[in-house]
Amino acid sequence: MTPAIVEGRACGTCTLCCRLPDIDDLNKPADEWCRHCVAGQGCSIYQDRPMLCRDFVCHWLTREGLGDEWAPQRSHLMVYGEGQQITVLADPDYPDLWRHPPYMPQFKAWASNAEARGGYVIVFWRDEVLKI
Ligand code: SF4
Ligand code: SF4
Repeated sequence: MTPAIVEGRACGTCTLCCRLPDIDDLNKPADEWCRHCVAGQGCSIYQDRPMLCRDFVCHWLTREGLGDEWAPQRSHLMVYGEGQQITVLADPDYPDLWRHPPYMPQFKAWASNAEARGGYVIVFWRDEVLKI
């Protein structure tokens, strides 16, 4: 079941999840635009977009506790969870932002909280993978 969206939040003009992840179903590599994404407008096949696009929600949309600094267009981070894993995809154009407060300390806090359940945080930036 897709988690509820926090009141007042919406994707708006953010299209980060049409660029950062690799999506096999769309033959889309990581850090490249989906061929269906139109700059400044969004998905050109919105009514027919694949189910995985329909179902995806990032933590920014669903986590009450995240402040404005976590808005993907400001953080340049796409954060989402699967099981006990929190995945962070960092925009390749912003090498340092995710390494500094408030982001890295929060990644460490999430990882520390998840550790007892076998959980962790994993950050992908360009070819770099950091498991916290
Ligand atoms: S990263 Fe989050 S806010 Fe941005 S388009 Fe994707 S789901 Fe929406
Ligand atoms: S199909 Fe549409 S929603 Fe899915 S990644 Fe491409 S542009 Fe984004």
